[in-house]
Amino acid sequence: MDESTLTFLRRVYRGHYFKHHDLVEIPSQIQAREFGYIPFGGGMIRHLSFKNRGELVAELVKQAPSSVYCSNATYERPTLQMDEKGWLGADLIFDIDADSIPTPCKAKHKWWRCTACKKGGMGAKPSKCPRCRSSALEQVQWSCEECLNATKEHVKRLTDFLMADFGVSQQRIRLYFSGNRGYHAHVQDERFAKADPQMRAEVANYIRGIGLSLRFAPQDNKAADAENSMGWRRRSDLFMMTTTSTYGKRQAQKLTDQIVVVNAALIDESVTTDIHRVFRMPGTLHGNSGLLKMRVESIDDFDPEKDPVVLSDEKVKVHVDFSPGFSLNGVKFGPYDSSTVQIPIYAAVFLTARGLGEVLAG
Ligand SMILES: [Zn+2]
Ligand SMILES: [Zn+2]
Repeated sequence: MDESTLTFLRRVYRGHYFKHHDLVEIPSQIQAREFGYIPFGGGMIRHLSFKNRGELVAELVKQAPSSVYCSNATYERPTLQMDEKGWLGADLIFDIDADSIPTPCKAKHKWWRCTACKKGGMGAKPSKCPRCRSSALEQVQWSCEECLNATKEHVKRLTDFLMADFGVSQQRIRLYFSGNRGYHAHVQDERFAKADPQMRAEVANYIRGIGLSLRFAPQDNKAADAENSMGWRRRSDLFMMTTTSTYGKRQAQKLTDQIVVVNAALIDESVTTDIHRVFRMPGTLHGNSGLLKMRVESIDDFDPEKDPVVLSDEKVKVHVDFSPGFSLNGVKFGPYDSSTVQIPIYAAVFLTARGLGEVLAG
């Protein structure tokens, strides 16, 4: 990233935190949390601690970081190295990302870019760049309405598991848009606070339907069963009410697999099992998109291409190397191929923060 783009991004992020620090959501027990951030053009700085909101916000304005993180754990001594921190407990966190939900549209909007000469193109990456012959090509994931909606569906499945199967009350589940293409669910329930990684892995595997093997009895009165059953049995009974599939012994695993496909929530297990991780802080800007990691009150009403757009619509001149079309704030942008354009700051950050173009001075 060139110096003028770095300066632009720092200026935009600093201005945002100066004007809109009310959006930053301070975690409970702030003094026991570990904080970290990534400066634009720099590496991760961890093991920080803040006493209160004012101290944290002042640091955000001063540093104007690309990304800000906070631990899901609470510690006796959050600024020390991991083995000396004194782990007290951790929120249970789930991550659902559009990239990990298999949707047929993925093939239509995946694209590639050459990191050497910045040429890009739609589809699977070729073995060599057609312009400069470099083999330093990267495959880029993009999203469309179809995969964003599929992601929402998995979020709804997750909250159903948490409430119906684990008895978590709705008020204890905080749902956030990640600021990129996914959602985080933070569960603050003291029953899980002390859970070790193994127990968290069991919760994650259950929700993903891993290792599930259901039994099917042909004589069951399924309509009645679905009302009285619980957990995966309820999902299975509901599924059987809607299918004409037969369920001999040999088909049981095949049927189980079908039930898992339509019911499991594809959460990222490695996120849920990590009890020492730092997570993007709610109410801060994503470092690769300029979109806000924000609280989602109603997943059905939430518009991930509109609601998290919080940066200015003042126009700025950008040279875009390559980008497929995208929609932000109700406006369609691109596709771009070596294009110089005047676009709103929120769209300029969306492109330049992920290295797809450069801001032109003046
Ligand atoms: Zn190239
Ligand atoms: Zn898609």
